[in-house]
Amino acid sequence: MSLHKDRAIVLSKRVYAESDKIVRLFTLNSGKVSAIARGGNKSFRRFMNTLEPFNHINVEYFDRHNKGMARIENADIIETNSGMERSLKKVCIASFFTEFTDKLTKEREKNENLFHTLHELLKKVREWQFTHETVLHYQLRMLEVLGFLPNFTNCVQCGEVVPDDRKIFFSVERGGIICTRCSDFLPCRVCAEGVIPWLSSMKEIPIYFEEGLTEKSDTQKVNGVSLLQAREIMEEFVSFHLDVEFKSYRLLKGFIFT
Ligand SMILES: [Zn+2]
Repeated sequence: MSLHKDRAIVLSKRVYAESDKIVRLFTLNSGKVSAIARGGNKSFRRFMNTLEPFNHINVEYFDRHNKGMARIENADIIETNSGMERSLKKVCIASFFTEFTDKLTKEREKNENLFHTLHELLKKVREWQFTHETVLHYQLRMLEVLGFLPNFTNCVQCGEVVPDDRKIFFSVERGGIICTRCSDFLPCRVCAEGVIPWLSSMKEIPIYFEEGLTEKSDTQKVNGVSLLQAREIMEEFVSFHLDVEFKSYRLLKGFIFT
């Protein structure tokens, strides 16, 4: 058994055996860690409210050779989720991304970039009114730090760089765009012109939000049909390659994409 001191984001919490709690943490130095907080522990009351979903915390836990369930010894809050619970929409967005992190990572797989991205995201969920663009932005950035970003620049069959005005064909199975030539013999989804360049540009939008601008540039304008196509690409891509269903996604869609 060794004692670890780390920073963590609480992904989820559930009650176990009446007085114990099991939490899933995403830690800075060890990635995802499942841990139990014992109700009989002397310091239980002191840190129990700390272990709420979306909180950013300092945590001390005992771990048995990086295997199995860790045991939480102490925890204190760095940043609280306080206030978020007043907006179901905010809770829903935060839940989707904590679930995204939980399902797409393995236990004890360190990913500092993912930690920082998730941390930034939760802060922004508290501060901003998220739109579909913001959701797509963070979804793409998370896929990138997890190494699953679709290829939006080269044909995934022949490798040719595809100019923006010909980014029309997308292969969900191969995880990226297809050039006109390869689209003759490969099954792929056909998108309206501009949809794929718009989708890939969503990864670069934070400056627009940081500055609080209300006018969108031409490349950031999109109609309902294009938005639907972009969303479908992402949904099909995630479900095909990552083979996961997100419980929180249906609710999120109701808030964001209607
Ligand atoms: Zn090609």
